[in-house]
Amino acid sequence: MKVRYLDLSVTDPDLKTRLLGAVDRVLTHGQVILGPEVAEFEAKVAAYCQRKYCVGVSSGTDALYMALRAMDIGPGDEVITTAMSWVATLNAIVLTGATPVFVDIRDDLNMDPDLISEKITGKTRAIVPVHYTGQMCDMDKIMAIARNRGIHVIEDAAQSFGATQEGRAAGAFGDISCFSMNSMKVFHSYGEAGAVLTDHPDLKKKLESLRYNGTVNRENCHYPSLNFRMQTLQAACLLVELDRLDSIISKRREIAARYDEALDGPVQCPVQNPGFENVFYTYVIRTDLRDELKDHLEQKGIETKIHHPFLLPAHEAYKDRFNPPVPRADTIVRRMLSIPNHEKLTTREQNLVIDSIMKFYE
Ligand SMILES: *Cc1c(COP(=O)(O)O)cnc(C)c1O
Repeated sequence: MKVRYLDLSVTDPDLKTRLLGAVDRVLTHGQVILGPEVAEFEAKVAAYCQRKYCVGVSSGTDALYMALRAMDIGPGDEVITTAMSWVATLNAIVLTGATPVFVDIRDDLNMDPDLISEKITGKTRAIVPVHYTGQMCDMDKIMAIARNRGIHVIEDAAQSFGATQEGRAAGAFGDISCFSMNSMKVFHSYGEAGAVLTDHPDLKKKLESLRYNGTVNRENCHYPSLNFRMQTLQAACLLVELDRLDSIISKRREIAARYDEALDGPVQCPVQNPGFENVFYTYVIRTDLRDELKDHLEQKGIETKIHHPFLLPAHEAYKDRFNPPVPRADTIVRRMLSIPNHEKLTTREQNLVIDSIMKFYE
């Protein structure tokens, strides 16, 4: 038996029929970029995330870059973020010309709000919290810190569509919030896609302009930008996915609960904060024997991943430029292993994962 970390093939005949129907409708009307399904996707995502506006874009990376640009963040500005994320978060900040400032993480792998204030200077323009692994940062705390000082908040909610804090959705807090719907994410397209959300009408207008070369009415360029438009086929498939999202999230939560029950002790299972509902983009266990356990599981036919092997400032492009003291992230990054947790994982496969991990520690 081979246990895949994630299986993107569409095997359910009913799902396949609905996706093909969505594709068929797009081919029939022919508006393949920013077509009617994009508008429907934007309305439904805004409602789901408790926001006024959603702008559909080409990826989560583009969403982050556009959000920073919409806030006029650039050279001379500082942007506070976490050391632990996918490198897109950092690339977006650096490519605006702004300087990233890194905050260490808590035991839940998210930015520690208690360490933010000491990083704030006269140049701080924004905080970019990342809801890592599918569990939200403490946004009440982060928003309070930012509001007191007139600093913007841009949520990188790429991994956390559907997560909540005390019933409020990921993406509902920041001045602007960014999502990725790439094919790996819990709420995913069949390719690349993303979204930017806000409640401010002026920001929404500017984001729509930034999405297409900074143009107004597709004619006159007001802001130098690139092309970040969303493909209608992706929006059409995302509408199908949105209908089954709640059941996908429930399934991931069920599997996570099984893992918690069976594995906590031999390994460290994810930290669950009360009042925070996790969507388990990744189920990350921690162990000092991470590399040995990964090899062992591979021999048993179980695919695992390391999300992500490098802290943001440690990537090749950045290691000579940034060297922030982030001792907790430094220790934890070497102990993390993501094990399979997706809606197609059978009970037998879950059992094999659990048994194989338990055997390793015997
Ligand atoms: C996936 C991801 C992104 C980038 O999204 P893409 O759609 O792949 O460009 C940004 N930040 C985080 C935390 C992510 O996990």
